Amino acid sequence: MMKACELSQQALMYAGEVLKAGMSTYELDRHIHDFIVKHGGKPSFLGLYDFPASACISVNEELIHGIPNKHKIIREGDIVSVDVGAFVEGFHGDNAYTFTVGEVDEETKRLLKVTEESLYKGIEQARKGNRIGDIGNAVQTHVEGAGYYVVKRYIGHGVGRDMHEDPEVPNYGKPGRGVRLVPGMTIAIEPMVNSSTEQVKVMGDKWTVVEGNGKMCAHFEHTVLITDGDPVIMTLTSH
Ligand code: MG
Repeated sequence: MMKACELSQQALMYAGEVLKAGMSTYELDRHIHDFIVKHGGKPSFLGLYDFPASACISVNEELIHGIPNKHKIIREGDIVSVDVGAFVEGFHGDNAYTFTVGEVDEETKRLLKVTEESLYKGIEQARKGNRIGDIGNAVQTHVEGAGYYVVKRYIGHGVGRDMHEDPEVPNYGKPGRGVRLVPGMTIAIEPMVNSSTEQVKVMGDKWTVVEGNGKMCAHFEHTVLITDGDPVIMTLTSH
């Protein structure tokens, strides 16, 4: 599973390198697809629940599950969430990052910073003896403390032989509640944060989830291993 997570991370970093204004989200997806296949993996999302592409690519007010499209052109000042997993030797990895394209405004930068910070607040709670609610509470407290909104309709998940396994990993919750964390569990923690409402809408393509008021939103994700000691971020192995 470490190999799958490492390839997932490398594919995500590669996406950040090739991403540029003027490129379509379809073109970016092709780059990601070819990278994963070239390195001996299979794109986890391709065909998952009939998803038609290798990565979810969501721009600006799109939160998650954006379908790569030849007509969706990435522009200067956009933020682009790339969510990608790789399947290697029977296991999946899963990670996401919201990239900036050129210069984005200060408020958007703050949204990205808070969302990424909330991911690490959640990871910090991914410890033996803690419960799922400790993770969600840490994410929620950080996000709401900064004046933003945690999306509750979509959540993180266990990951391993299947892309989506138990337990559910919400980005909200009460400390000390929910499934107890034990060493060996591997979970995807993935804060999804809106700037103006906790509501979301699903577009006519039945996939793309957008911020309820059409404002900016962000998504960051890592696959994390619970151990006897500190959490291990499996999608953060190569530097
Ligand atoms: Mg995930």
